[in-house]
Amino acid sequence: MVQGCVLCGATGAEVMSERDRHGKPLVTVLCPGCGVVRNDPVPSEAELTEFYRRDYRQEYKGAAEPRLRQVWRNLDRLNRHFAEFGDIYGKGGDWLDLGSGSGEFTFLAGRIGARVTAVEPNEGYAEYCRAKLDLTVTTGRMEDCGFAPASFDLIRLSHVLEHMRDPLASLGTLKGWLRPGGVIYIEVPDIEADARNKLRGRLFHYGHIYNYNPVTLRHAAGLAGLVELPQTAARSAGRCSGFFTAGEGGTAGAEALAANAERMRAAMAAHNARTLPEPAEGTAAGRFFRTLAARLREARAGARLKTHRAIAEAAAGELRQVLARG
Ligand SMILES: [Zn+2]
Repeated sequence: MVQGCVLCGATGAEVMSERDRHGKPLVTVLCPGCGVVRNDPVPSEAELTEFYRRDYRQEYKGAAEPRLRQVWRNLDRLNRHFAEFGDIYGKGGDWLDLGSGSGEFTFLAGRIGARVTAVEPNEGYAEYCRAKLDLTVTTGRMEDCGFAPASFDLIRLSHVLEHMRDPLASLGTLKGWLRPGGVIYIEVPDIEADARNKLRGRLFHYGHIYNYNPVTLRHAAGLAGLVELPQTAARSAGRCSGFFTAGEGGTAGAEALAANAERMRAAMAAHNARTLPEPAEGTAAGRFFRTLAARLREARAGARLKTHRAIAEAAAGELRQVLARG
């Protein structure tokens, strides 16, 4: 039986790649109806459980600790995100950080007064967060969480949705955990931007089951009964991220989806036809100076701050100052 696309119902599938980013066999297809790019076949729940069991064991045999520089970059990026969306985060409340990773969001959110529940499937990361950042993190996948309906004011889903084999069911579950007026922040890698910026063949991963661009991300949320928050929509336009809340009307029409499929097809064709990445947006000189400024800040911080915890505390201090000014 041919199963239609979960986002648009189309039954076609155009093969975009037969290898993953490490050269191992992995078939990736594009849906001609909407432009979502997915692994083919979509793995079963049992296959995923087995994949993560092996993957995590392999990855975290050794030190599970992120490098100081990486922690600094994560915190720096998050501080800019908190400042940009201070109107959302300033409200505080009960938050869920689903897929909390190396814990920077949970840490900063706690320091600005939110009550955060952190859940992370990777035991290595969870243990690092407990040991080094003194966070409370539950180890598990979303399927293991039995939260009561209407438990949270804000749910963060950063680099998680692309791992979900049934994104609409998962988003529906999350929607049920939201209080009235609650928001979900969803962020995923942008396959359209990655096709432009990454080396040929370095795109696909067994664990990234659905690869979205800004159009398919919003459409998926719409199908799950979520709409983009009006007050943040303009700020998030063109990004593969956004704040959503329960509501109807978030889906795209068939024509817009078909146009998106055409864009994604062109982006993948361009990706597959060359070996060098396109320069990212902005001029080379502008990028150089931005990178230099970031490196200088990292170096200055690294000289003073020798531990993960010290770096996180420094970033939290900066964030509180920024929010107090804003
Ligand atoms: Zn589709």
